[in-house]
Amino acid sequence: MNEHDSETMAGMLNEKGFAAEIDKEQADLVIINTCSVRDNADKRFFGTLGQLKKIKERNPGFVACVCGCMMQQQHVIDEVKTKYPWVDLVFGTHNIHEFPRLLDNVIGERQKIVDVWQEGGAIVEGLPVKRLYDYKALVNIMYGCNNFCTYCIVPYTRGRERSRQPEEIIREVKELTATGVKEITLLGQNVNSYGISHHEEGYWAGEGGMDFADLIYALNDVEGLERIRFMTSHPKDLSDKLIQAFKDCSKLCNAIHLPVQSGSDRVLKRMNRKYTRADYLTLIEKLRLAAPHIAITTDLIVGFPGETEEDFQDTMDLVEQVRYDSAFTFIYSIRKGTPAEDYEDQVPEEVKHQRFNRLLERINQISGEINQTYEHTIQQVLVEGISKSKKGEGLLAGRTESAKLVNFPGDQELVGQIVPVHITEGKQFNLKGIMES
Ligand code: SAH
Ligand code: SF4
Repeated sequence: MNEHDSETMAGMLNEKGFAAEIDKEQADLVIINTCSVRDNADKRFFGTLGQLKKIKERNPGFVACVCGCMMQQQHVIDEVKTKYPWVDLVFGTHNIHEFPRLLDNVIGERQKIVDVWQEGGAIVEGLPVKRLYDYKALVNIMYGCNNFCTYCIVPYTRGRERSRQPEEIIREVKELTATGVKEITLLGQNVNSYGISHHEEGYWAGEGGMDFADLIYALNDVEGLERIRFMTSHPKDLSDKLIQAFKDCSKLCNAIHLPVQSGSDRVLKRMNRKYTRADYLTLIEKLRLAAPHIAITTDLIVGFPGETEEDFQDTMDLVEQVRYDSAFTFIYSIRKGTPAEDYEDQVPEEVKHQRFNRLLERINQISGEINQTYEHTIQQVLVEGISKSKKGEGLLAGRTESAKLVNFPGDQELVGQIVPVHITEGKQFNLKGIMES
């Protein structure tokens, strides 16, 4: 979500005549788009902000801007104002569309501005975007979150759910495919409630409107589009209709990211996730029945307050049962203003770390075992660029439909194309292969 917001701000800066400069020491303007979902993102922000002081001292015309989720929290704004007075512009997640105007005031009037809105207004369409890739694109379908999982800051920094009109999304996807985009990832904190959740300013499907599955069916018909992905999907709202779409929609990739967070019912309840372990396992069963080779990935939090060794074993056991293709594992970190901040039974740091390491080791082993099953198969691979792996000199990197990274020899001209690759080796974190002629 943040990456895509950054693409929008880059588009706005482009329209103002700015060009991208990787080295911040050489730049006229720096914009830090912050994430506040976990503690280490917070820490990195303040570290980077400190480094801007020297640039400002050397070049008084330099403009320092900060935005994103962290700015939606008053205690962060206060800290920026008092400890980092070289910051020129502070804005939030709800007024990104105002960035060009705010910047004009900062540059033209030499003003310092703090402008953060508490809630999102109507969705603003048609903002310029400078996309990172030519062949794949992120497409927002909704903003905000209504779920209030007790550990999570997102509902406080991104506001309530608002869905974009389906026509706007379909128009954007058609425009993208006209420029050569082959793969889209539909973005929302909970895409499964697209068009359903009620809100004043956004899209309200009501009777006869489009829900998320309908949107997938509609996008499946867009000419030139080859792959549809989405994230994230909350298990409590995953419908049978969406599971059916995996059977019916040829462009919907055979992959789903379905964050479970914990395998313990007691912990899930305290997290306010609104499903049980059994509900989740039933979904996995249905998905695998509809799409036998579907790649399933997840998010897991270790060390949520009150998590006992037994609860943690339930998570380990769930991982064993589901056998995830891969998982993002996170050590629980306290977020200011969330209900779990006040839970008194916080888990000691060393216990969290020890559990985290055990979980990660098992997840990686399973990933490697699943990757081995790809050996001697032929996979359709969207070529993304030159391989970043150390031994990858002269290799291309791409992704299978199941989103696995494949390194294989090939010509750089293939970037952006989908090519058949014979998999020769399934490793823990990626696959190796040779292109089929
Ligand atoms: N809307 C998405 C998640 C967005 S946040 C969903 O519900 O799936 C991405 C992930 O960060 C979450 O799935 C969760 O695993 C993790 N996360 C969120 N808050 C956290 C916290 N306080 N500590 C550790 N991990 C957290
Ligand atoms: Fe956070 Fe839960 Fe909303 Fe995801 S669904 S963004 S984890 S509150």
